[in-house]
Amino acid sequence: MKIVNMKSFYYFIINGINNDYKDFFYFSEEGSVFTGLATLFIFAFILISIIFLNFTIFSNNINTDSTISNNFNFMIEDYNRNIPILAKETIGNISNETIIKGIPCYNSTDVIKNRLQSILNEKSKKYIKNNNIIIESEVLNVYNGKDPYHLNIKTLVTGKKGNMEYNNVIESVVSIEGEKDPLPFLMCKNHPTLEEDGRKINYNDALSYYLATSGLLNPYVYENATASLIIKRCPYDPYIHHGEGLCMKNCIDNGYFHESADGSCYLCRLEGKGGCLHYGLETFISPHKVRNVTDRSISGTDHVIYQEQYPGDAIQIYYENDFYEILILDSSHRAKYGMI
Ligand SMILES: [Zn+2]
Ligand SMILES: [Zn+2]
Repeated sequence: MKIVNMKSFYYFIINGINNDYKDFFYFSEEGSVFTGLATLFIFAFILISIIFLNFTIFSNNINTDSTISNNFNFMIEDYNRNIPILAKETIGNISNETIIKGIPCYNSTDVIKNRLQSILNEKSKKYIKNNNIIIESEVLNVYNGKDPYHLNIKTLVTGKKGNMEYNNVIESVVSIEGEKDPLPFLMCKNHPTLEEDGRKINYNDALSYYLATSGLLNPYVYENATASLIIKRCPYDPYIHHGEGLCMKNCIDNGYFHESADGSCYLCRLEGKGGCLHYGLETFISPHKVRNVTDRSISGTDHVIYQEQYPGDAIQIYYENDFYEILILDSSHRAKYGMI
C-alpha cells in the first residue's frame, strides 16, 4: 500500500526538488521507489499541461491583439486612401457648379477645403457607427502640386480604438486631369452663348462678343471659335514638336493643355482669373475655318485672350476642301510650339 503524504507534497512544492525525498514519500513496508517516481511523473505532467495551457491562452491573446491591431491599421489606411478620391470628386463638383452658375468660386482653396472637410466629417461618423473606431481629420491646406495638372491636399488624421492611437499629417496628390475647365464660362458669363458637348467648347458668338466689348482687334475671327473643355496633358513634349507634320492638328483636335508660366493654374481658373502668378496651364482657342489665311486678331492661347490681349498672325494648321484650319499666334508662342 503506497500513500502520498500531502503535507510532505506541500513541503516539496515550497522547497523544491532538492529537499529530502524521505520527507516527501511515505513507503509501506514493501515500499517501492517506482510508485514515488510515478507520482512525480504525474505531477510533472500536470505542471507541463498547465504551462502549455497558459501558453495557448497567451498565444491566443497575442493573435487577438494582432487581429485588432491589423484591423485598426487597415481602417486608417482605407480612410487615408479615400482622401484624394473624395477630394477629386469635390473639385469636380465645385467646377461643375461654377460652370452651371457662371459665378466664380472666390477663394477656391477655402471652398475646396471646407467642402472636403464636411465630406470627411460624414465619413468619420460612419466609421464610429459601423466599426466602432474613432477616425477624425482636419483638412489643413489645399495648394498647387508639383506640376499644374495636380493639386496637393494636407490633412491631419487622428485615430483611436482601445489603447491604439494614430496621428499623422497625410499629403494627398490629386490629379485635375479629366475635370472641366471653368475659365471660358466665367470669362463669357455676361453673354453666355457658349456650349459644351462633354468634350469641346463651342463659343458660338460668346467670345467675339467678349472681344468686341473689350474693343479688341478683329473680334469676328473668333465667331464660332472652339476650344478644349477637359483638362488633358499634351503628350507632345517638348512642345517644339508641335510644328512637325500633323502634330498641332492632333493636339487641337484632342483639346490638350500645356504647361505655361503665364497661364492660369486650376485653382485660379475656378476663381475666374485669366492669368496668375502660379505656374499654370494654357490651351489653344481655334477660330472658325477660313478660305484665306490673312486675318490678324488677339493671339489664341487662352491666357492671352483673357488676360494679356496682344495680337498675333494667322497660321495654317490644316487644309481640306478649300478651307484652312488656323490659329492666331504671336511670335513667342510660335517659337514655343515650333510653328515658325
Ligand atoms: Zn499640345
Ligand atoms: Zn493661380
